Amino acid sequence: MIPIDLRSDTVTQPSPAMRQAMASALVGDDQFGEDPTVNALQERVASLLGKEAALWVPTGTMANQIALRTLTRPGDEVIVTRESHLAWHETGAASANAGVQLSEIGRGGVLTADEFLAARKPRGHMLFPPTTLVSLENTHNRAGGVVLSRALSEALCETARSHEVATFLDGARLWNATIALGEPPSALSSPFDVVTVAFSKGLGAPGGSLLAGSREVIARAVRYRRMFGGAMRQAGIFAAAALYAIDHQVDRLREDHSNARALAARVAESPQVQLDPATVCTNIVVFGLAPGAPDAPMVVARAKGAGVLVIAFGPRTVRAVTHRDVTREQCERAGTVLAEVTRG
Ligand SMILES: *Cc1c(COP(=O)(O)O)cnc(C)c1O
Repeated sequence: MIPIDLRSDTVTQPSPAMRQAMASALVGDDQFGEDPTVNALQERVASLLGKEAALWVPTGTMANQIALRTLTRPGDEVIVTRESHLAWHETGAASANAGVQLSEIGRGGVLTADEFLAARKPRGHMLFPPTTLVSLENTHNRAGGVVLSRALSEALCETARSHEVATFLDGARLWNATIALGEPPSALSSPFDVVTVAFSKGLGAPGGSLLAGSREVIARAVRYRRMFGGAMRQAGIFAAAALYAIDHQVDRLREDHSNARALAARVAESPQVQLDPATVCTNIVVFGLAPGAPDAPMVVARAKGAGVLVIAFGPRTVRAVTHRDVTREQCERAGTVLAEVTRG
């Protein structure tokens, strides 16, 4: 039996048409700025995000790390949303590569302008690390694919700017937020100084993220991309997959969202599950296990035995992610299986 793989939207396979686009891509040495497909993607993404320039990098983690290195100095404080990818999923890179300290604030994937102001530390204080950057994540992974509204992003960024704090958006799944909110990408990205987007998640490309911002910031980021070992040569083969994804695989994310809601509705039928299906608005379902339920590793093992792959996100927290390589019927079946394995 082939398992229903809901561990992540990163398991998506490049489609035959995407592979075709990759095979026929025009390429060149990108470090000389001579890869026409990378150049086309960078221009396309900069324009979609309403920024002057964009830079191709191999992974989302590297994009985040380059952003930190470019926008901060060692010893600075960066305010991030609680359980952000930067703080939890990058193996300590922020302190190792940029030498910054992260403060996790807010709740449920969100932080308000007031919470930011309460946590922010001014420059020039005899005790405080200066807060020089604030980072949001849209959608927020560990909070369950939560979307940040345009209004919230604008209010926070305006407050940050008035205190000379730079703003960063980890938009690995910004495409999902645009579909969920019915907003164009630029509406959600333009409040921020620097924004990253990924092509390796629900968009189904084999890899690649882009970092977008002002020409000046992106020019500085080029150095750190090289420093971190991410400057490549004929990367147009990857860029072709990303361009194909922008044209053909963004709108269909709404199916993933609808499938996630269907899955969540079934999981929530178990009295052993803590999940309000109304909070599921994109392709990520994170649910808690009630006191009488088995723990997350046990639920994951039982689900695997029943042909459903999910991830333990904490001792009593499980994550399931829908994507283009699972059908509606498979998501519904997975929801039923997950509800069953949480009982007793
Ligand atoms: C996946 C992800 C990243 C990092 O992407 P990789 O390509 O796996 O390094 C960054 N931020 C968020 C929110 C993500 O979900």
